[in-house]
Amino acid sequence: MVDKNIYDVIILGSGPAGLTAAIYSARGGLKTLVLTGNQPGGQPTVTDVVENFPGFPEGIKGPELMERVKKQAARFGAESEFDLAVNVKKSKNFEVETRQGEKYLAKSIIIAVGASPRWLDVPGADKFKGRGVSVCATCDGPFFKDKTVAVVGGGDTALTEAEFLTKFAKRVFLLHRRENLRAQAILQERIGENEKIITLYNSAVKEFFGQGKLEGITIKSQYQVNSDIRQSEVKGYAEDYGQQIIDKNGDKALWKLNLEGVFLAIGYVPNTIFLKGFVKLNDKGYVKTDRDVFTSVDGVFAAGDCVDYRYRQNIVSCGMGCKAALEGEKFLNEST
Ligand code: NAP
Repeated sequence: MVDKNIYDVIILGSGPAGLTAAIYSARGGLKTLVLTGNQPGGQPTVTDVVENFPGFPEGIKGPELMERVKKQAARFGAESEFDLAVNVKKSKNFEVETRQGEKYLAKSIIIAVGASPRWLDVPGADKFKGRGVSVCATCDGPFFKDKTVAVVGGGDTALTEAEFLTKFAKRVFLLHRRENLRAQAILQERIGENEKIITLYNSAVKEFFGQGKLEGITIKSQYQVNSDIRQSEVKGYAEDYGQQIIDKNGDKALWKLNLEGVFLAIGYVPNTIFLKGFVKLNDKGYVKTDRDVFTSVDGVFAAGDCVDYRYRQNIVSCGMGCKAALEGEKFLNEST
């Protein structure tokens, strides 16, 4: 007898990996539930334009892309709950407990819980969270019209966010802790050409300060800029926007930079704390997998940014979601 209350598969997460898995599972005739997590649609929903997803030559707004994927999964019958898994355990079936106190049973699980932006562990960062310090330019950028802001980081996210912020801010400082950016060349070219962006290399944020709301940051900076033209301008900008402070040790590299907003783009941490003890995680908390999607537990598969710390691309997450769903289907066929 078929127990109608037991799902064939419960998918934890609704980003590109989770929703692609939902399309494949539901289309394959499996009774499928998606627990969306806190951010239905995942990271692309806070991306302005996704330019490298195949099939959209002009690019597509991140939220629109995910709305389409969600509709596609629903069309094949995938159910979806706006709820967050807080515990998973294995008895006869898998049991998933949620923040809203629900318990769901499933014969297989796909973990696609993604990763969240890393926060900076520097004095004042917590105090100004939401009052000048943000991890989402798409969400908070419009609050900084004609203001001065900084983006911290040297990867694709930092450069994408810096460019996006120039739509609003009058000046964007890109602060990178090393001499070389790690972002793709096309993004480096674009920010190099953008007159509103000043890149400060070898620059680290030491403190956030302000009365009530953020008024500035202290940075330790060598002010090395690649372009010769910019090199001469930078000192001037620094004088316009900041003030050199010499600390008690005579360190001349410390500067106070006056600005209204700072956007952190310093990488991600996987959302897997609640899975500790259920599946094997690596030392950074990513789900350990074999052949991409097989976790340490039979019947439990994983996909997307909670596994993949190397590529972290929408298209890769979609591919992994597809693989997890196909392997899940195979597992169910073989175990019944
Ligand atoms: P990332 O590539 O890991 O870069 C993080 C940056 O933050 C690095 O430059 C790192 O510096 C810096 N950083 C880390 N910890 C720091 C700290 N405590 N203080 C100061 N700086 C710190 O992360 P991401 O840029 O978010 O990119 C993640 C993934 O998403 C990548 O695979 C990327 O390709 C992808 N992505 C793609 C696009 C696109 O295709 N358009 C857009 C966004 C993201 P170091 O360089 O010194 O390590």
